[in-house]
Amino acid sequence: MKSYLTHLECTYCNASYSAEEPHRLCGECGKVLYPRYDLDAARIALDRNSLRVPRTSASGLNVGDIDGSGWSVASVAQAADGAKIT
Ligand SMILES: [Zn+2]
Repeated sequence: MKSYLTHLECTYCNASYSAEEPHRLCGECGKVLYPRYDLDAARIALDRNSLRVPRTSASGLNVGDIDGSGWSVASVAQAADGAKIT
């Protein structure tokens, strides 16, 4: 699964550090670093996951196991798709 962590930021002086390096405390003031995420990319991915369109399940992602209602929605959508093709 893709990580949306972009960098680490100091909670006190706002110094930023690369997420690639294992920083935990600020080198400037010794305060805790806070992980910053690419919220736009994360939100787009979440929107895609919540749609549960039949195309997603057809492409190999098993959307049916998210919860009970997701499974029934996917099943009905697939049945409707099959009816259209034949
Ligand atoms: Zn700092």
